[in-house]
Amino acid sequence: MKDRIREILSSVPSEKTIKAEGWVRTKRDSKNVCFLEVNDGSVVKGLQVVIDKASFNNDDLLSQVTTGTAVECSGKLVKSQGGSQAVELALEDLKIVGTCPSDYPLQKKRHSIEFLREIAYLRPRTNLIGAVMRVRSTLSYAIHTFFQENGFYYVNTPLITTSDCEGAGETFQVTTLDLDNVPKTKDGSVDYDKDFFSKKASLTVSGQLEGETYALALKNIYTFGPTFRAENSNTTRHLAEFWMVEPEMAFCDLEGDEETAEAFLKYIFSYVLEKCPEEMEFFDNFVLKGNIETLRHVIDSPFARMTYTDAIKELEKVNSQFDFPVHWGSDIQTEHEKYLTEVVCKSPVIVTDYPKEIKAFYMKMNEDGKTVRGMDVLVPRLGEIIGGSEREADYDKLLGRINELGLNPKDYWWYLETRRFGSVPHSGFGLGFERAIQYVTGVANIRDVIPYPRYVRSADF
Ligand code: ATP
Ligand code: MN
Repeated sequence: MKDRIREILSSVPSEKTIKAEGWVRTKRDSKNVCFLEVNDGSVVKGLQVVIDKASFNNDDLLSQVTTGTAVECSGKLVKSQGGSQAVELALEDLKIVGTCPSDYPLQKKRHSIEFLREIAYLRPRTNLIGAVMRVRSTLSYAIHTFFQENGFYYVNTPLITTSDCEGAGETFQVTTLDLDNVPKTKDGSVDYDKDFFSKKASLTVSGQLEGETYALALKNIYTFGPTFRAENSNTTRHLAEFWMVEPEMAFCDLEGDEETAEAFLKYIFSYVLEKCPEEMEFFDNFVLKGNIETLRHVIDSPFARMTYTDAIKELEKVNSQFDFPVHWGSDIQTEHEKYLTEVVCKSPVIVTDYPKEIKAFYMKMNEDGKTVRGMDVLVPRLGEIIGGSEREADYDKLLGRINELGLNPKDYWWYLETRRFGSVPHSGFGLGFERAIQYVTGVANIRDVIPYPRYVRSADF
C-alpha cells in the first residue's frame, strides 16, 4: 500500500523522491513560488507542497490546479521553512489525476453545517466531517477491542424482526405486499398470510431480546449494528437509522452491569483521546471548548451511584428551578439528569432502581414490588448516555409483567422459553453509537456524525 499523507507527514526529510496523492484544499500563488495544501483525508492538516516556479516552468499545468483538483505530487520531503509544519514537499513533478471546475461547492470559505448536509456526498472532504468520520472509525474499533479483550463474542442479531422489543410502536414495517392492492381477510384486515414472511414484520428497534438468548448460551456477547426507529420528531439527538451497541452478560447482576458500563465508557474515551489527538484538539478548538477536559474528567472520576428514589429527593429540593418539577414516579428528563451529574454528584452517576411504570417489561422486579433493576448512566453536559438493566429471569414474574402491560405473550413465546431452560441472572445495556460520537466530538447535531443521516422526511443520497 502507498503511504498516505499521514505517514508522509510523520517521516523525516530525505533525498529520496516520494509521491503524495490527494485533493488540493488551497492554493497560494505568488510570482516566484506557489504553495498547495494537499490532503487525502487521513489528517486534519494536509501536506504543504512548494513549487519553485522558475524550475517547474509549467504555468499552463499549474493554472489547471484549483481547489478540489486531485493531484499526484512527486518531490523530496524537506524541512519546512514555515512555522506551522515540520516537513513539506519540494515539488519535482506534478500530475493532475482529476480536474475540478470552479463550481466545486467546497471553495475555501467556511461553510455552514446545514449547507454541508445538503452536499453530504462531498462533506467528508471538509476538515470537520473528515475528522468526525475518522473518530467514528476509531471509536468503533475501540468498542470492538474492549469487548473482544474482555471475553465477549460479537453476535449479529436480525435486522428484520416480528417482535417489537420496546413495545413502543415506532417501527418501520417491512412488506412485499402491493400497497395499491392490499390483500384482505374476510373480516377486512390485512391478510399478512400473503406477505413475504406470512406475518407482519418490521425493522428492529433493538437487538436485545435476541442478544439475551445468545448470552444465555455464550455467557458474554455484544451486538453492534443498525437499529431503526420511526422517530417522528425533529431533534438533535434522534435518527431514524442509527447504530447501537448492546452487551449482554449471563450470571451477572445489576452491580456487574454497572461495573462493565463504567469500565467500557472510560476505555473507549481514553482510546480516542490517545489515538486521535489531532482530531480531538481540532474539536476542542473549533467545535466545543473544554471538550477534552470534560472527557478526561469522566475518565478520571469514579462514577457515583444513586437510587432513583434518592435522586428524586435531591431533585425535589430544587423543583422550582425545573421546567418539569418531579415527584416519585415521574420520568427523569434531561434537565434533571444534568442537575444530578453536574451539580449533585459533580461526576458521572449511575441512577438505579426506577419505578416499574417508567421502564420496559423485561427489567427484573425488586423485592418491594414497585421498582425494577434498571440503570441509566448520566454524564456531564449530556445526561443519559447508557440505559441498561438486570433482566427478569423468573418465568412467572416475566409473564406477569407482559400480561400486566397488555402485551401479547404469544409474541414473546421464544423469549419466555429461555426462562424455563436453565434460566440465570443476566444483565446488559445499550449505547447509541452516534450519541457517543456526539459526546466525544462535541458536535451538536446527530445528523453530522453519521455519513448519510436518515430522519423524518429525509433519506437523500
Ligand atoms: P431517548 O429517550 O433519547 O429517545 P430511548 O429511551 O428511546 O432514548 P433506548 O430505547 O434505551 O433509548 O435505546 C438505547 C440507546 O439508543 C439510547 O440510550 C440512545 O443512546 C440511543 N438512541 C435511542 N433512540 C435513538 C435515536 N432515534 N437515534 C439515535 N440514537 C438513539
Ligand atoms: Mn426514544
